[in-house]
Amino acid sequence: MNADEAALREAMIGAFVELDARELNRGSSGNLSHRCGEGLLITPTGMGAGEIEPADLVWLDFDGTRRGRLAPSSEWHFHAALYRARPELNAVVHTHATHATALACLRRELPAFHYMVAVAGGDSVRCAPYHLFGTEALSHAVVEAMRERKACLLATHGAVSAAGTLREAMRVMIELESLCRSYLAALAVGAPGILSPQEMAEVIEKFRGYGQGPVAAA
Ligand SMILES: [Zn+2]
Repeated sequence: MNADEAALREAMIGAFVELDARELNRGSSGNLSHRCGEGLLITPTGMGAGEIEPADLVWLDFDGTRRGRLAPSSEWHFHAALYRARPELNAVVHTHATHATALACLRRELPAFHYMVAVAGGDSVRCAPYHLFGTEALSHAVVEAMRERKACLLATHGAVSAAGTLREAMRVMIELESLCRSYLAALAVGAPGILSPQEMAEVIEKFRGYGQGPVAAA
């Protein structure tokens, strides 16, 4: 293992622990990965943030052939599918965060009810149709729902974020959970206003002008 991979493994464990500390992830339900050489590093199946160590991360090629003693997360398929389909993506985060999952269980997308929805790259966060976890059918649905986006919901399951860096994928997941919480709170009282495509295009344009990206604009 070279120094870069060792540092990457440390950063991935730090992010996994952070998801748990922020209550975006519980036990071993979520997972995260990072592109690494001709494949990816991913959290192993069945291990929570309190017990996982850098050496426990599993390297896989994009077809799922693994190097290492532990089995990868059973959800590695859609991570690999995203890296294959989207060369600009280097990190994928998946959680069953409470509010994103609640919206996903309603099988509803997150519309442009707030300008920060643009953090995911467009005027909505789509909800991929339900498929059994760990299947090729789910992988295809995730790639489709993520088209031109950095996040999507998975019907009756959870949420996915992905970006060029692990830090950005984490920021998008944190923001998505917060937005879903606000949206559900608004829905409980009435029908929130929805920004028009033109209004969202203005937000996306303005985000582009901020050196540190969309989240810094908040
Ligand atoms: Zn899951």
